[in-house]
Amino acid sequence: MTPAALTTGMTTTTAGDVDVAGWTDRYTHAVMDTFGPPQRVLVRGEGPYVWDADGRRYLDLLGGIAVNSLGHAHPTLTAAISAQLGTLGHVSNFFGTPTQITLAERLLGLLGAPAGSRVFLTNSGAEANEAAFKLLRRHGGPERPRVLALEGAFHGRTMGALALTHKAAYREPFEPLPGGVEFLPFGDLDALEAAFATGGAQVAGLVVEPVQGEAGVRPLPAGWLAAARRLTAEHGALLVLDEVQSGMGRTGRWFAHQHPHLGGGVVPDVVTLAKGLGGGFPVGALVALGEHAATLLGRGQHGTTFGGNPVAAAAALAVMGVVERDGLLAHVTDLGAWLRAEVQGLGHPLVAGVRGEGLLLGVVLTRPVAALVAARALEAGLIVNPCTPEVLRLAPPYVLTRDQAGDLLAFLAGLPADLGADVGDPA
Ligand SMILES: *Cc1c(COP(=O)(O)O)cnc(C)c1O
Repeated sequence: MTPAALTTGMTTTTAGDVDVAGWTDRYTHAVMDTFGPPQRVLVRGEGPYVWDADGRRYLDLLGGIAVNSLGHAHPTLTAAISAQLGTLGHVSNFFGTPTQITLAERLLGLLGAPAGSRVFLTNSGAEANEAAFKLLRRHGGPERPRVLALEGAFHGRTMGALALTHKAAYREPFEPLPGGVEFLPFGDLDALEAAFATGGAQVAGLVVEPVQGEAGVRPLPAGWLAAARRLTAEHGALLVLDEVQSGMGRTGRWFAHQHPHLGGGVVPDVVTLAKGLGGGFPVGALVALGEHAATLLGRGQHGTTFGGNPVAAAAALAVMGVVERDGLLAHVTDLGAWLRAEVQGLGHPLVAGVRGEGLLLGVVLTRPVAALVAARALEAGLIVNPCTPEVLRLAPPYVLTRDQAGDLLAFLAGLPADLGADVGDPA
């Protein structure tokens, strides 16, 4: 392997010159400590694999947190980005570009959007949800200050998105946050009905992930979204689906709410997207479905410099094109079902079960040892994510094969049954 040359400003270094430890030291002296020290410093990727600065290879079963849908350095994506950058790399939103317009049309098409629907392109998931929050305020005005979200929800780290995010440790240091948000117990239909039964006319909208990602890959129970659609419609509130993590083919359909058991038939008012949309290039979207939702953010009421950037749009179009050309939705469905069955079939005493959809899977452990298992996996050359103390999240590239995924099965099978038996329940 030829080490990739890393060019940063005036200095050019070869990745092989400095090992992981050296880079990690430099990271801690230059990069803000919001994420803690990096587990490894990575220099190269190809398909489902990445390599660190010591030349060690890892099977990336996290995919940059459900982002690298086509894996790393996919030739079609790389070519599309390069071609667009070499043609027209950026214009202000005083102008339109063919890639931006085509991306908006494609998203409306994939969502089967009704007439009048419109797209606002962003750079991230938080930014898409931030726009959704503003849209809800425009819908509600002072008459409808209430915004409903769910316990366990994760919608991003900017102030508005954070206000919709449930975890106290994320929220509390930044209060006061935009007000009016109420958290309801996850998947609890009675609680949802109760929230509308009193003061339902003051609810601007309900914001939910069809499959909660950060909370441990938790799909909403069957029928819940349909009930949420009925209640929001009855009370004149909007239904916002955050498909930042679950969208763009991750679950085997373009959008998680298109699965019959998750929300089949439900037409939301707003869908937010990011993560897998650009396959690694930063791009997000807010899709407002139907004429009312689409006109809530009027001229001059929202904006962004980079959102709708032609390179980002070209990346998203390339990802969609490859997913369609290579039949990746069907592959995600097949591989996800197989992987789930195989992990369960191990009958390992540490594995309580597997939940999720397609290639967004949570391996639920019988003890709160997910961090310990993930650390061992890394040593064994596998990247998995302990998203809660009991759950390992898998969100691998759609291009992963059974053969490659077999490394995970071998690793899990080899875990000692009593691993972390001395670890208490931190909760
Ligand atoms: C990651 C995520 C976000 C935030 O996206 P960023 O691009 O990190 O801002 C929002 N909602 C969900 C469901 C996510 O998984």
